[in-house]
Amino acid sequence: MAQIKVLSNSLINQIPAGEVIERPFSVAKELVENSIDAGATDISVEIVSGGLEAIIVTDNGVGMSPEDARMAWERHATSKIESVEDLTKISSLGFRGEALASIASVAKCEMETKKRLEIGGWKLEIRDGKVESEGEYGCPEGTKISVLNLFYNTPARLKYMKREAPESRHIIELVQEFAVANPDVAFRLVSDGKIVVDCAAGNIEGRIANIFGIEVANNLVPVSYGGAGFKIDGFIGKPIISKSNRKGQFIVLNGRVIQNHLIAHAVREAFHSMLMHGKHPWFLLRLDVVPEDVDVNVHPRKLEVRFLKQNEVYRAVYGCVEMALNKNELVPVVESKDQGSRIKYSGEKMDFGVSDEMIAPNDAFETDNKNEVVVACSLKAVAQIANSYILAEDEEGLVIVDQHAAHERVMYEKLMVAMREAKVVSQPSLVPQNVDFSVAEAVILRENFDLMREIGFEIEEFGGNSFLVTGVP
Ligand code: ADP
Ligand code: MG
Repeated sequence: MAQIKVLSNSLINQIPAGEVIERPFSVAKELVENSIDAGATDISVEIVSGGLEAIIVTDNGVGMSPEDARMAWERHATSKIESVEDLTKISSLGFRGEALASIASVAKCEMETKKRLEIGGWKLEIRDGKVESEGEYGCPEGTKISVLNLFYNTPARLKYMKREAPESRHIIELVQEFAVANPDVAFRLVSDGKIVVDCAAGNIEGRIANIFGIEVANNLVPVSYGGAGFKIDGFIGKPIISKSNRKGQFIVLNGRVIQNHLIAHAVREAFHSMLMHGKHPWFLLRLDVVPEDVDVNVHPRKLEVRFLKQNEVYRAVYGCVEMALNKNELVPVVESKDQGSRIKYSGEKMDFGVSDEMIAPNDAFETDNKNEVVVACSLKAVAQIANSYILAEDEEGLVIVDQHAAHERVMYEKLMVAMREAKVVSQPSLVPQNVDFSVAEAVILRENFDLMREIGFEIEEFGGNSFLVTGVP
């Protein structure tokens, strides 16, 4: 890496007001970004008490000379850009030279660093943003930065953070994101002494399996697109692994994980009606765009970017996702022959082997004050298609009911009522079911074992992020 220099005032003024460090998450993000920028192939993150007591990031990157190690803590000191021109073609994750200075103003910091091929390393202690002590130090090649007692000098912030839900969950998701964006880098996350993420350097397929579990890895369809100055590759999830939130959506632009509504919308549109209402597709798209065609200098947290050729990006994403879906015949084809046996029709009320309450659409469920589910339903079933859909009519017209979704909803409502009345009965499974989760999901599950038991699920650890369900409501 180039030498660290303080940016000129005119350049500083072209950078949006920098981010203040407001939570442990931001510290972890900035430190890991620095490690990636330093070319590290092995990055380890350790947090204590959700990062409030300590956040320690160790890498095997290029390291720093003693001069640079001192300079790094100055405001607007960076080795990554030098001129206004550089701002238009940023290829590193950082570029503002502010992160370490901001962190040092709200925490006690230590840095150990050794440049490749140097004999000795250097260690510094930073207090109140200034170097308090420094000297030669024996350490491996690379850099280790410890951020201790975060917010020790801003008690109000500290108190607020202590009241908040544990920050470790956000940091786990962060490391998860870095890990999928950089499959060739080994990542490790230790939280309060427990290893949460541990993945060796490898390829993207292996990384997805490691982070999101086998079920996700087994249900992916590859996508790719190649245009002038613009490439896409990655995976979309088959509808079966779509989720009820957007947490399974990853966009990696030139190695940076970003949020982008345009791209997310293009993917969703390409899925058309293949997803049930309220479901969001799983996808991991890696975009390679010439740096001149994107502006990463628009968001203080560098989360969002601006594409110069928006329409082209939209069309390309939409096109390659649609093509991948079609190629893999995921779009169900309705056969016209043999229709007689697949579509039943009768003007009379018919028995489809499902109870009447199942034909009620979601909004037909009401809960009265006695906490009982009341089914207000004026539907008349007319036909059933492919053992999956019920055609029904009411005063307003045709209603199509997804039988399985309706069934799930009925079960859900019953379960909620039983839970409120503490009447859930758990039934042991004859054959325990093995379920896999992502790293972050597994953490949430462990935190909620008691709640799961309350609603009738008996769950046991089964190694890694796998669990055995031994009882169901
Ligand atoms: P920026 O990343 O925007 O340049 P930072 O305040 O995050 O600003 O870091 C300042 C400088 O310190 C970087 O430009 C880089 O030269 C150096 N630096 C920080 N962390 C590391 C690291 N882990 N390995 C090598 N150099 C680092
Ligand atoms: Mg940085």
